[in-house]
Amino acid sequence: MAPADREFAALKALSARLGRDPLRTQAAGGNTSLKRDGVMWIKASGTWLAEAERGDIFVPVHLDPLLKAVAEADPRAEKAVDFIAAELATTGALRPSVETSVHAVIDRPVVVHIHDVATTAIAVRADAEAVLDERLGATGLGWIFIPYVKPGVPLSREIARRLRPGTNVIILGNHGLVVMADSVAETGDIADRVTAALEVTPRPAPGGDISALNALKWPGYKPAMHRDAHATATDEARLAIARRGTLYPDHVVFLGPGIVETARDARGDATRRAGMPAMMLVVPDVGVLVHETALPGADELALALADVTGRIDPDAAINVLTNEQEQELLFWDAELYRQKIARESTTRR
Ligand SMILES: [Zn+2]
Repeated sequence: MAPADREFAALKALSARLGRDPLRTQAAGGNTSLKRDGVMWIKASGTWLAEAERGDIFVPVHLDPLLKAVAEADPRAEKAVDFIAAELATTGALRPSVETSVHAVIDRPVVVHIHDVATTAIAVRADAEAVLDERLGATGLGWIFIPYVKPGVPLSREIARRLRPGTNVIILGNHGLVVMADSVAETGDIADRVTAALEVTPRPAPGGDISALNALKWPGYKPAMHRDAHATATDEARLAIARRGTLYPDHVVFLGPGIVETARDARGDATRRAGMPAMMLVVPDVGVLVHETALPGADELALALADVTGRIDPDAAINVLTNEQEQELLFWDAELYRQKIARESTTRR
C-alpha cells in the first residue's frame, strides 16, 4: 500500500503542480521520489506527473539492493524491475522510471527531476556554468553542473561521483534540473527558486498561420496543438537554433533527431525521412505540423522546443547531442518501454 500520510500527499500535489506546467515538465518527462524505511517511491515509467493526484503513478523499490547494483554496474540497475517492493506495490503492471537510479544515488528523502524550460535554455549553452554562476551565485543554493551524460545508470554514476555535502541543486547539461531536500515543501521551494532565478522573457514571435497549414493537406499532418509551438517556424532566431540539432533527450524520443523542414510550396511526400514521416515538420514562416502517428506527448515536446529556443540568445554557442548520443536514446530498451506505455496511455491532451 502506498503510504497514506501527509508527506506522500504533498509529493503527489507537488508532482501534479509541476506536471501541469508546460514550462516545468512536458508529457511523461520528469520524475519525483520519496525515500523512507529503505524503500523509494518513484514515478512509474511512461506515466505523467500531471496525473499524480488522479491515479497511482508511484512504484516502490528496495533501495539497498538497487544501490548495490548501481555501484557494481549490474545491468539490472537499468530497469530496476528486480528491485520492486512487490509487497507494497499498487501498480503491478508498471516499471519504475528510467531515471530511478538517479534518484536512488541521491541520499536525501525527496528528489524532484524536471525538464524545466528556463533551466534547459541555459543548460544547452557552451558557457552554461558561467551563466549559472551569475544567476544562482546569490541564491545560496548548493548547485553543481554536470555536462550531458546518457540518462539512467550512466548519469546516476556521474551524479554519485560529483555530489558534495550540501548539494541541493544539480543542473544537467542538455537535459534539465534535479533538486533534493529533506521534505517535499523544501524541495518544491528550491525548484521554484531555481526556475525564478534562471527565467528570462522569451522572444516574442508571430503566431502560426493555421489556415495555411490546413490548406497544405499533407496526409497525416495536423497543425501543432499548442499555439506557441508554431514559434519555432515563425521566429527566425528560434529556427536557427533548432537547426543546429537535438538539444535534449526527450526531443529525440518524441520527435526524432533535430528538426525536419519543408517549404510550404513543396510536395507533402518530401516530408519523409528514411521512408518514415517526420513526427514534427517545420514549415518556415508558416507554422509547425505534428504527424498523427506521433506519441502522445509529441505536441508538448513541440511546444517545449519553441519555449526553450525562444529563451536562448541566438549568438550563444550551444551544445547539441551527437549522432551517437541520439542513437543510444532511440534504441535504449528502457526508453522503448517508456514509449510503449506512453502509446498505450489514454492520456492525450
Ligand atoms: Zn530527464
